[in-house]
Amino acid sequence: MEKLKALLDWRKLENQTLYAVLLAIILGVVFPSFAHYLKPLGDIFLRLLKAIAIPLIMTSIFVSIVSLGSIKELKTLGIRALLYYTLTTFLAVLTGLVIVNLFFGIGNGQEVNTPTSTHFEPKTVSLEQFFVSFFPSNIFQSLAQGQVIQVIVFTLLFALGVLAVTNQKAKETVINFFKGSNDALLNMAEWVIKLTPFGVFAIVYYIVATHGLHAFVELWKYALAVLVGLFWHATVNLGLIAKLIGKFNPVEYFTKVREALLVAFSTASSSATLPVSLEVAQRKAGVDPKVANFVLPLGATVNMDGTALYEAVAAMFVASVYGIHLSLEQQIIILITATLAAIGAAGIPSAGLVTMTLVFTAVGLPLEGIALILAIDRFLDMFRTMINVWGDLIGAKLIDNLLKKEKKTENNP
Ligand code: ASP
Repeated sequence: MEKLKALLDWRKLENQTLYAVLLAIILGVVFPSFAHYLKPLGDIFLRLLKAIAIPLIMTSIFVSIVSLGSIKELKTLGIRALLYYTLTTFLAVLTGLVIVNLFFGIGNGQEVNTPTSTHFEPKTVSLEQFFVSFFPSNIFQSLAQGQVIQVIVFTLLFALGVLAVTNQKAKETVINFFKGSNDALLNMAEWVIKLTPFGVFAIVYYIVATHGLHAFVELWKYALAVLVGLFWHATVNLGLIAKLIGKFNPVEYFTKVREALLVAFSTASSSATLPVSLEVAQRKAGVDPKVANFVLPLGATVNMDGTALYEAVAAMFVASVYGIHLSLEQQIIILITATLAAIGAAGIPSAGLVTMTLVFTAVGLPLEGIALILAIDRFLDMFRTMINVWGDLIGAKLIDNLLKKEKKTENNP
């Protein structure tokens, strides 16, 4: 009882944010006309987060690599992180496919009332373009355009370059500069986080007021499949992974990091949420900064369980509306391409919609079909981004625990 009370205590920032979300949903539906007064507040909050996010990606990855100190340690961390990202994303898509097939019987052709106002111009992404786009040609351009993967690739190489510098004094100066900047950015994040209840209230209010909730009624079956899948993945799949492999209690961890999940929900952007995830993981949940600084920024762009799951469900849904039956082989192609498409999606709102063309093209679905799901995409984006960030946070804690355990056994064999 005491625990529940503490969990709902309105004086806590995390709870104020949750109440702000709930209040914004209700007021957004009842008084939509006020929304535009609140928009500037939401915009300022989002801009502050984004302004911190890009430099923070650089400094955090840099600090993580130089504090690992050797290529061997980087390899240990990197391999574990990549394995975790790929396996959990795969599992997420699998969950999506099983839910669609088992519970909803999507795949037998069904009528949907599509909102007519939505218009979608499909743009295809080829696999080649997709890989080449990971590499920057001008780092300042990548920074200015928020090309996160390019920034990560550059920072990785730059950090390794700094480690190889032989002039100790010069090397330390660069390292200290980045360490100081990283701490300063985290302090800034801490201040912005104090504004979360207001920022989140304004953003959610505006979205509910402008999008309305009616589209949910028409697309309820599809929305339900996505939401059930996301919920299952977050609680059962990731929960079991945390408990069995990471040896930590996911519920307790959730209570420590939930602020980041609410920010993810309202901003629908993993990248904008990064300052908050880094802050709560290190300062509240005690994840080693070395691990958090590597796993979280990388995860924010590469590890998107929610997006992968949603892309698979969306493909199956659109196929069913067009009366196209997808065979087992085609569903396996969806499994692979949705994983890739999620890796390629940027951590910004609606990024998943764009990379979804990869999945559609691979199984020969009409790209215009994406227009069918546009009406509720912004809402589903909020939920899938929350699961994307939850996946990153579980990964950070899990890898931290695994590395600590390995260190212990190395020291006392
Ligand atoms: N909005 C998602 C994110 O930032 C990406 C997407 O699925 O559109 O994680």
